[in-house]
Amino acid sequence: MMNMKKQIGFIGCGKMAQAIIGGLLKSKLYEPDQIVASARTEKTVTQVSQRFQIKAGLHNGEVAKHADILILAVKPDLHGAVIEEIKGAVKEDAVIITIAAGITLNFLEGAFQKRIKAVRVMPNTPSLVGEGMSAICANEQVLREELQEVIRLFESFGQAEVVTEQLMDAIPAVSGSSPAYVYMFIEALADGAVQQGIPREQAYKLAAQAVLGAAKMVLETGKHPGELKDNVCTPGGATIEAVTTLEKQGFRAAVVSAMEACTKKSKALA
Ligand code: NAD
Repeated sequence: MMNMKKQIGFIGCGKMAQAIIGGLLKSKLYEPDQIVASARTEKTVTQVSQRFQIKAGLHNGEVAKHADILILAVKPDLHGAVIEEIKGAVKEDAVIITIAAGITLNFLEGAFQKRIKAVRVMPNTPSLVGEGMSAICANEQVLREELQEVIRLFESFGQAEVVTEQLMDAIPAVSGSSPAYVYMFIEALADGAVQQGIPREQAYKLAAQAVLGAAKMVLETGKHPGELKDNVCTPGGATIEAVTTLEKQGFRAAVVSAMEACTKKSKALA
């Protein structure tokens, strides 16, 4: 395989980095000896090297020195300091990826003070269970095959879509933050079930599996969500009662205005 000898480096080894490493190894896209990570504490270094059998250490520069694909997996406010620390060490041709909210391609190029191959990715927390949704954009220095490799990397723990950078601020509302409101919906479904006498634990299972199944129907049948909804609504039946009640309560409008607020805030934070 083309990428077999490449080294993937992670600066920061928290939840997201570990989700990505887990996905890469599970998919067998890379071998453990191709992955190197740096963390801030000995405890994390030990935990990560034992869990994944990869090389890990405390020195960000060492990771930067060896990585063909370098993933900055620290919080947004640490990017400036981390880049300052590693910018002299990165390989000439390295593809540098940030997964931090609000860190732009322009910021990366400016911070490294040279023409780098820069990629910006917005993943989400279901990455932790192999069902992530990642939006990706790259600058012009990134070659098509390099972008394909980045896509494969993020698809190892879910789905990935390439978007223009202009749309990156709209991504949190639809896939980055949306798990939060889907959890609220699942919680509400479970509350409604409990109200009707269904035990709480069963209620969560029934509700969550229904949401998972409905999402799979959209993704796997390729049918319009409206058509799938119509198929569940028997004329004069119970489902259309629920659907019309949701419409009366402004269900869709509430979701769309929540997303508007989310996008506005994402832009303000960027
Ligand atoms: P996290 O706190 O779990 O991990 C960050 C890690 O970076 C920690 O282990 C910390 O010890 C380490 N670190 C801090 N300073 C460092 C330094 N100077 N050098 C090396 N390592 C250092 O956070 P996370 O949830 O994994 O998020 C990481 C990035 O991913 C953030 O920028 C976040 O915006 C982004 N992100 C997270 C999610 C999410 O759902 N968790 C989703 C999308 C994007």
